[in-house]
Amino acid sequence: MKQACTDCAASYDISQDEQDFHADMEVPAPTQCPNCRFVRRLNERNARNLYKRKCDLTGRDFISPYSDVPFPVYHPDEWFTDKWDEYDYGKEVDWNRPFFDQLEELLHAVPRQGQFICPGTIENSDYVNCAGYLKDCYLVAETDYNERCLYGNRVFHNQYVVDCSNIYNSELCYECVDVRKCHSLRYSIDCDTCSDSYFLKSCIGCRDCIGCMNQRQKQYMLYNEQLTKEEYARKKAELNLHSHDGVQAVRKKATAFWSLQPHRYVQMEQVQNCSGDHLYDSKNAHDCVDCSDLEDCKYCARVFSVKSAMDYTSWGDKSEKMFQCGSCGDNCYNLRYCTTCTTNCSDLTYCGHCTGCKDCFGCIGMRKKRYCILNKQYNEKEYRSLCKRLTEHMQSTGEWGEFLPKRFCPFGYNETIAAEYFPLTKEEALAKGYKWKNTHDELPNVEKVIPAEKLPQSIADVPDDILNWAVTCEETKRPFRIIKQELEFYRQLDIPVPHFHPDERHRRRMELRPSRIFYDRNCSKCGKEIATTFAPDRPETIYCEECYLNEVY
Ligand SMILES: [Zn+2]
Ligand SMILES: [Zn+2]
Repeated sequence: MKQACTDCAASYDISQDEQDFHADMEVPAPTQCPNCRFVRRLNERNARNLYKRKCDLTGRDFISPYSDVPFPVYHPDEWFTDKWDEYDYGKEVDWNRPFFDQLEELLHAVPRQGQFICPGTIENSDYVNCAGYLKDCYLVAETDYNERCLYGNRVFHNQYVVDCSNIYNSELCYECVDVRKCHSLRYSIDCDTCSDSYFLKSCIGCRDCIGCMNQRQKQYMLYNEQLTKEEYARKKAELNLHSHDGVQAVRKKATAFWSLQPHRYVQMEQVQNCSGDHLYDSKNAHDCVDCSDLEDCKYCARVFSVKSAMDYTSWGDKSEKMFQCGSCGDNCYNLRYCTTCTTNCSDLTYCGHCTGCKDCFGCIGMRKKRYCILNKQYNEKEYRSLCKRLTEHMQSTGEWGEFLPKRFCPFGYNETIAAEYFPLTKEEALAKGYKWKNTHDELPNVEKVIPAEKLPQSIADVPDDILNWAVTCEETKRPFRIIKQELEFYRQLDIPVPHFHPDERHRRRMELRPSRIFYDRNCSKCGKEIATTFAPDRPETIYCEECYLNEVY
């Protein structure tokens, strides 16, 4: 079935398996193309851009992804109490008005949980978001089960890692992207079970290596060249990896070396009948990116442990039968068109910011409620008959089956994950109907401000005093601070102090990943057709799975 997207006009196909899934979820076929749907859902998640603000209930200061928003924002400690009542905002359905207008009024009225943290699981980690089970962490987002992790996103089950993204079960790593089970690894991409190495790409099981790509179970290798233990030690010392200039020189050389090596068309491990990128331990999952442990899924991103879902982004965790949902997860079942619904929700339609709810339609900010519409309580029979009538009403207004309108989203495009996958200028974002957040940095109250270029080459020459300074980012000129735990980390690992603002460091990490758009092209070696995230005009040599495995083993 071919359709034209009502947002971007692109033609897109709705396959038979999608039609079957829609029938099972009792929803119509979407009127937007998969990409427009993806971007819209990503815009529901502001994980990393946090602001100092006051709790609108108590006046307490805290850190929140919400800055200038029309609704009250409560600290999670207050939001989860009975100091306020979600029924106070309940409304009867007005059958003479579009449903979305009524839902929007509710969205602007009901208090919102002001920081996405799992209450009672966060210890000494105030500056975090989309987080649970953390101890002594700072500025990490979309993150669970970590200790002493600083500056990063999508950081899961790690100890003492700094400036990493998409890192799992690792320890003592620095500036790594898409790595799993690594130890003392630095400046590396797409690696598994590597240790004590610098600048590795697509390596597995390597240790004591520098600048290598596509290697398996190697030791003492420099730019894919096998050295003896003594040669390696001598050459490593010459590289001056403890100094800023030394790191920069190896970064430049490694990047140039990698660009000449064959690249695997996508990253997938332990998958069966799957398509996508950075997809792990999954079965029958298609067009899914940055996911693990999926079964029977399509068009999913950044979710884990999910069964039977389509058009689902962030976060999963034992969730099933999810359609067109963003930022929902932790044991959720049968959710349609929902945003930010958490922990033990089931059978929700057009709900936002609910937790522990069942059988609700068009509710906002409800906690452990059942049979509610627009935050008003009904009995089961009334609820079922009103849902039926409401669905018909929404069909007559053309709203049924549409995801929540863009105007509902309180975030600027540039604040959300959407901008990470699909960067837009302010003008482009506004033209597409998204909001934009104008930001400015408060000047830090410090003894002195020094340009990054003036920082000592080696951490050994950095005085404790640096904790009282601000550094001006070499690229963006934005001021940033070095915190105590961070300085200790650099000292312990003998790493030079970064020259870039944490946001610029994040942007550079994201730039190391290919796009999330799939292109049809041919394997550079055997000519076989492949769907890859490397655009046809990119300079890298791209191998299909078979040719890639022949190359590395
Ligand atoms: Zn479109
Ligand atoms: Zn091939």
